[in-house]
Amino acid sequence: MLGKDHVSITLGTVFPFTIPLIFSENSHPVYAFCLLASTVIGSLIPDADSDEKPKLHYDFKIIYDIMVPLHKLIVFSFSFFNLKEKMNLQYVVEEQHRGIMHSPIGVFISSFVLTLLTAIIGCFIFHGINATLIGFLFLGLISGQFLHLLEDSCTISGINWLFPFGTCELKGSIYTGNKIEGKKDIRLFLYRVSLLFASAILLILYSLEAIDVNGSGIYLLIFAVVALIWGLIFLTAKTDNDNLWIQDAKKVRELERAVDRVGKQDDVRKRRNIGK
Ligand SMILES: [Zn+2]
Repeated sequence: MLGKDHVSITLGTVFPFTIPLIFSENSHPVYAFCLLASTVIGSLIPDADSDEKPKLHYDFKIIYDIMVPLHKLIVFSFSFFNLKEKMNLQYVVEEQHRGIMHSPIGVFISSFVLTLLTAIIGCFIFHGINATLIGFLFLGLISGQFLHLLEDSCTISGINWLFPFGTCELKGSIYTGNKIEGKKDIRLFLYRVSLLFASAILLILYSLEAIDVNGSGIYLLIFAVVALIWGLIFLTAKTDNDNLWIQDAKKVRELERAVDRVGKQDDVRKRRNIGK
C-alpha cells in the first residue's frame, strides 16, 4: 500500500477522536496536533523496512534515519541473544519487508524507543518534559503503526499478527499495484471518503449542538462510528468482486483529485476562521 494511502486512512480514523480535544470546554489543541502529527509519522514507520525508499524517507528523513538502524538492531538482538531457541519462536527474525517491523512487537518497540529519544532530547533542550504531551506522542506513534498493520491486512500480502511467535495471518483481496493494466482498485479511495464523511458528519452534529463534546460518552460514540466503518472495510476487503472494485484507473485518479481539492479548500477555510 502506498504511503499516501496509509496517511489518509490513518488520519481519517484518528481525526474524529481529536474533535473533543479541539472543541470541548477544556480544549487542548496542542495535544490534538501532537496526536495527529505523531499518528501521521506512525502510519509511515513500518515501511522503513522496505527495500525501496518509502514516503517516510522523503517526508520525515530524521525518523527514517533512526528507524533503519533500529530495525537492524532489533534483528541483530534476536540472533545475538539466540531468542528463537530461548523463546521457542516459530520464525527466524531476519531483515525483511513485512517482518518484525510489521508485527505488534516491532510496533511497540519502535514507538517506545522513538518516544524515549524524544523525551530525552526534550529534557536536554527544555530542561524538563510535559509528560502528557509525551503520552500523546506515544499514543499517536503506536496508533499510527497499529493502523498501518490493519491497512496492510486488507491487502493480498496481508500481515502475520503473531510474528515471530506464531501464525495468525490476516489478508484481504486488495492489490497495492495495478492488478489489471489501466485499472485501479477503488476500495482504498472509498475507505478514505467514508472516514472523511464520518468526520464531516461529526463536525456538523457538533456545530448543530446535536452532540455534546464535553460529555463522557463522546469517545464511546466516536469509537462506535469508527469501528462500524472499519468493520465494513474488513468485510469489503475480503470480497473478490473485480467487476465492482476494479475500475478505470483514470476515473479513480480524477475522483481522488476531486476529494483532495475539497480537503484543501476546507483547510483554507479553517485557516481563515482561525485568523478571524
Ligand atoms: Zn506496510
